[in-house]
Amino acid sequence: MFFSLPHSLILLTSAILFQPPTVTAYKPLSDSFLRAIPSPDDTIDPVNGSLLAPLLIPRVPGTPGQKTVQHHLVNYFQTELPRWSIEWQNSTSPTPISGGAEIPFANLIVRREPPWVQPGQSNLLTLVAHYDSKYQPEGFIGATDSAAPCAMLMHVAKVVDAHVTRMYDEMAALGEGGSVAMDMGIQIIFLDGEEAFIKWTDEDSLYGSRALASEWSQTPNPPSSPSKFYHHRTPLSQISLFLLLDLLGASSPQVPSYFPTTHWAYTHLSTIETRLRSLQLLESTPTAPFLPDANGTMGHGHRVSDDHLPFMGGGVEVLHVIPSPFPGVWHKMVDDGAHLDMPTVRDWCRIVGAFVLEWLDMMEVWDEPGEEVEVESGMAERKRWVA
Ligand SMILES: [Zn+2]
Repeated sequence: MFFSLPHSLILLTSAILFQPPTVTAYKPLSDSFLRAIPSPDDTIDPVNGSLLAPLLIPRVPGTPGQKTVQHHLVNYFQTELPRWSIEWQNSTSPTPISGGAEIPFANLIVRREPPWVQPGQSNLLTLVAHYDSKYQPEGFIGATDSAAPCAMLMHVAKVVDAHVTRMYDEMAALGEGGSVAMDMGIQIIFLDGEEAFIKWTDEDSLYGSRALASEWSQTPNPPSSPSKFYHHRTPLSQISLFLLLDLLGASSPQVPSYFPTTHWAYTHLSTIETRLRSLQLLESTPTAPFLPDANGTMGHGHRVSDDHLPFMGGGVEVLHVIPSPFPGVWHKMVDDGAHLDMPTVRDWCRIVGAFVLEWLDMMEVWDEPGEEVEVESGMAERKRWVA
């Protein structure tokens, strides 16, 4: 699925020769940086973890559980990450069970941008998961679908915030900024209304993502001033990559590469997993890597209908992190906290956290411990490999 031939060619070529336009300074995290990425530890415990436990309730749109979870998400960013902007995108729609009544859907968008950018100037790595749960079976929790991915993103926001703050402060002090590579930000979208109420159709599914993609595609950013800055026409076109997490938290997931135009990004994510495993920084012991397609299949995973579709229709580049096959607990009552594989949940936090830090070029503000010694031992290691 190519949106336009020249753009696709650039992206495909970049996997081999150079980095894509939005990440011209892409530099892998050092081993010491990978080691320093914190574990979510108990915050992601399903019973009393401060991030995950409050999400493990039924949270069907239009019910009190929806409001409870919205409050939890907002409260976290207000109290723990006050530099992030918070925005709601609201819509209503009747559903097959609402008897004609309009049901509210509310997408939460939290964002951390360089302080110097004007509207439309930043390009935004966009991390996405849906926070609603399925109407049936009654009492369904949806731990992998997608409470755990939401909690992972809350954790990742905290991990990157300190580094992002330092980078923005240093760049602002130097008067830098104003290029595509420098104007990188991050946004996290917690989507509502992903699930069908009765049966998955174009109308009964993706209520939140359809409303958001539509609104963002039709809302022009204000004209930039001065005009020398790179300017994105709409909020939709500010998305540098739409990284969608779904159905994560069961053991031994197999996430294929779904799209040729983002296979290069998949490869970065897979490489991070491989490096973390070889450094023994992951806890899980799956029979195969979570992301097995880095060297082989390029973008041939059997595609899955999900929240990326309305955005992809608007030309957004998507990295879909969803296992194939789906977890065995999928859409069953047993998709609850007790059936999460916690080493796998924590490992996803590390993998995604590292990917985000790398994408945002955080080696620029990483103080390598004992830098000269590291370089020497690195050379020695290379000689051993050559020999
Ligand atoms: Zn689902």
